[in-house]
Amino acid sequence: MGRRVFIETYGCQMNEADSELMYGLLRKQGFEVADDAEQADVVLLNTCAVREKAEDRIFGRLGWLKSAKAKNPNLVLGVTGCMAERMRDGIVERAPHVDLVIGPDAYRRLPEMVAQQLHEDGETDPAIDVRLDKRELYTDVPLDRVPGISGWITVQRGCDKFCTFCIVPFVRGRERSLPPDEVVAQAQEMAEQGFKEVTLLGQTVSSYYERGFDFADLLTRVHAVEGLSRIRFTSPYPNDFSDRLLERLAGLPRIGKHLHLPVQSGSTRILKDMRRGYTAEAFQDLIGRVRRILPGWAITTDIIVGYPGETEADFQETMDLVGQVRFDGAFMFHYSEREGTRAARTRPDDIPLEVKKDRLKRLIDQQETLSKASNAAMVGREVEVLVQGRGKRNPNQLIGRSSCFRTTVLPADEHTAAGDLVRARVSGATSHTLFAEPIAR
Ligand code: SF4
Repeated sequence: MGRRVFIETYGCQMNEADSELMYGLLRKQGFEVADDAEQADVVLLNTCAVREKAEDRIFGRLGWLKSAKAKNPNLVLGVTGCMAERMRDGIVERAPHVDLVIGPDAYRRLPEMVAQQLHEDGETDPAIDVRLDKRELYTDVPLDRVPGISGWITVQRGCDKFCTFCIVPFVRGRERSLPPDEVVAQAQEMAEQGFKEVTLLGQTVSSYYERGFDFADLLTRVHAVEGLSRIRFTSPYPNDFSDRLLERLAGLPRIGKHLHLPVQSGSTRILKDMRRGYTAEAFQDLIGRVRRILPGWAITTDIIVGYPGETEADFQETMDLVGQVRFDGAFMFHYSEREGTRAARTRPDDIPLEVKKDRLKRLIDQQETLSKASNAAMVGREVEVLVQGRGKRNPNQLIGRSSCFRTTVLPADEHTAAGDLVRARVSGATSHTLFAEPIAR
């Protein structure tokens, strides 16, 4: 039997897609995929560095894996991804039982580095490769996609925006886009493998640009791929949404009717300090254009509270913007200082934790009410649900997502299977789930 590898993925979908890439690279060298960490010869933690809490969680997991390594000294333990890039040898200083530290642009060397550690006697120095490569797109690497209904294509790597609070440009390097032919080839391959939904991924995916070919052009080409029922993308950047792009989206019916538009703050003063490149008014104007050109689309967002210098008045502007826009959902966090970012270098993290927590709670409470109202407003409407499979807790239910990305529960029947598109009428709703009945065809 070949050596077995297990990858635990933390953080965003980009990391999920990178784990498939790593599995692809390792399988090509004869590795097999283990069912869990206990069965594996090689365990990799593919990590996130966006918040301190995410990193603390990884060290907790590494602590647990130390005892696994004590039982099996031949176990090779690696840390990959954004935290590997950010902390570099700081990881082995804190967790000396780690054998490998590999950044997001160095995965090509992963099989070689793993093999080297496996063949050594356990006394080897840890192997570290965190070089960033502004051209690396892994175009020729065979991906090991987990078969299913929904999958990802990473169409862009890195980020050039340098928002002051964000570590991503430092750990993922410069922005670069996959050639459109390669994206289309991957989408066609996924359709042939039975995938029904693809999500195009990029840190600022709407900034996609490759030799005169922009994001609107890319969506048009992927939309033309036969066999795919739905195309999604995440995360776009608010400034990229020209009317041309919005109108293109309106003309592509298989694009999921959901825009995730990270606003981050409702205070223009704070947005300016964050270097987001738009004002609260410009964001509101964008929302107006989205509602006019794309009626019925769901809009979700990301928000940070407690950014350095945020006053109660600034926070109130965020609350007001959220109340006016009435987002259908939001990811909300309090500010977490990331060493190396511009904010960490130039702004004291001066909002006390209890104030951050209080603001976050007030914001979450408001958004919960809005999310509930948004789902309640769906009752009586027709939705098109892409079925993902039977419910884990209740196999008499089918679980899927509506085009506007709402989790939707349908009664199971023998004619409907995972991957089917079902027209249904919403009969009930909670703040996070719709319940619907199929419409007789
Ligand atoms: S756009 Fe800003 S927040 Fe998003 S990844 Fe780039 S730097 Fe980070």
